[in-house]
Amino acid sequence: MKNIILIAAPAAGKGTQAKLIEEKYGLIHISTGDLLRSEVSSNSELGIELDKIMKKGQLVNDEIVEDLLRKKINSSNSNGFVLEGYPRNLNQASRLDVILNEINKKIDYVIYLDVPFEVALKRSSGRLQCKYCGKIYNLNDEKLRPLKNGICNNCGKEIYQRNDDNEESFKIRFNTYLENTKPLIDYYKSKGLLKEVDSSKDCYTVFSSIENIIGK
Ligand code: AMP
Repeated sequence: MKNIILIAAPAAGKGTQAKLIEEKYGLIHISTGDLLRSEVSSNSELGIELDKIMKKGQLVNDEIVEDLLRKKINSSNSNGFVLEGYPRNLNQASRLDVILNEINKKIDYVIYLDVPFEVALKRSSGRLQCKYCGKIYNLNDEKLRPLKNGICNNCGKEIYQRNDDNEESFKIRFNTYLENTKPLIDYYKSKGLLKEVDSSKDCYTVFSSIENIIGK
């Protein structure tokens, strides 16, 4: 059983790598961004509020995200998880320690996917995602293009561009990341959990570096 956390700037490849890890190691993929987007698509009152915050590239309130995360972790009795998008600040990191402690789980690896701003910006502009299975595509990466325009290779459903994947919102998200999320690197380094991977390479090269960490 392995519990893995991916930390990275927006559009650095954490969703893509999480799916590859999920497939190879049979871990459950938990993305707080996906949990929030699914609340938005339900058109609930909460979803409408979340949409406004996320469109602007700001962080959602810690309690709301924690609530969604707890429900997901408690409803999945898998062997382990790959968590991405959480924690996003130091408060969430200490809350995660509490949540995991309550259910007798611990973090095995925190993998930091390092990528320069320009690479992440380019990935963000070409990124598409399936509305149903969450698979991520990228028009700027030949290895990540869908086989048929606008259609998911996995489930044949529609793929779409996220409404926060525009340059203005990306820049805000990147700054939010530098200010709130990057300090987590030192937090996890001090706990001896941090592993660093160069995520500017193509997705399979990056995945191979991750396999070297987790075990082939
Ligand atoms: P992501 O799919 O990880 O890029 O997240 C998309 C958006 O969802 C972010 O820009 C935030 O608005 C929100 N979000 C996702 N995870 C969190 C979190 N852990 N804390 C606060 N907001 C989050």
